[in-house]
Amino acid sequence: MARIKLTMAEQEDNNQGKFQELTERIIDTSGAFYRRGWLYATSGNLSAVAEENPFRLAITASGVDKGNLTASHVIGIDENGAVLNGQLRPSSETLIHLIIVKKLGAKSVMHTHSIWGTLLSEKFSGNGGIEISGYEMLKGLRGVESHQNSEWIPILENSQDMKHICNELEVIFSRSPDIHGFLLRGHGLYTWGDSIEDARRHVEALEFLLEVYGRLTLGAA
Ligand SMILES: [Zn+2]
Repeated sequence: MARIKLTMAEQEDNNQGKFQELTERIIDTSGAFYRRGWLYATSGNLSAVAEENPFRLAITASGVDKGNLTASHVIGIDENGAVLNGQLRPSSETLIHLIIVKKLGAKSVMHTHSIWGTLLSEKFSGNGGIEISGYEMLKGLRGVESHQNSEWIPILENSQDMKHICNELEVIFSRSPDIHGFLLRGHGLYTWGDSIEDARRHVEALEFLLEVYGRLTLGAA
């Protein structure tokens, strides 16, 4: 097939078009998650890789209402978290998104603050994580083909020192490269995927599993 060479202007238009398209899907996902109670009080962050080379990540800005996102609330950052486009600043948790993209090759990262994730991460932090198996919903996770699969969800101590969390994540990712997500204690869930749709499905599957596991192990909490 003949290779079509784009002019720089055409390439720039393509890149802008891709960023806008990702922004629309992030806004749609954010609204859906907010309505489920997973992104209240400006919490959480959603991101997607818009360009590989040079690298550009589309990510929700710090402190914005996730139930009412507009295009100006999604900014573009480089591999170090510096803002490439947009007027708002990135969240400090941007570094966690970047390390997930860098170490695991994820194309989209999603972070929620749900009640069940918060309760379970507090209750089981002493075990270092939660092991969930026996549920059909596990098949919502990429590569999982049976309800008998055992899914390990690590729990890390929460910290305002993002570099410390990133160092711990490097160890976890090299030890357990097949995990689909992790919890920060008393804070929330991180998961990721090969696309926004993939990451969104992972949030829905994991939040479902966390609620089931929580209702069973924490009683009527
Ligand atoms: Zn958070």
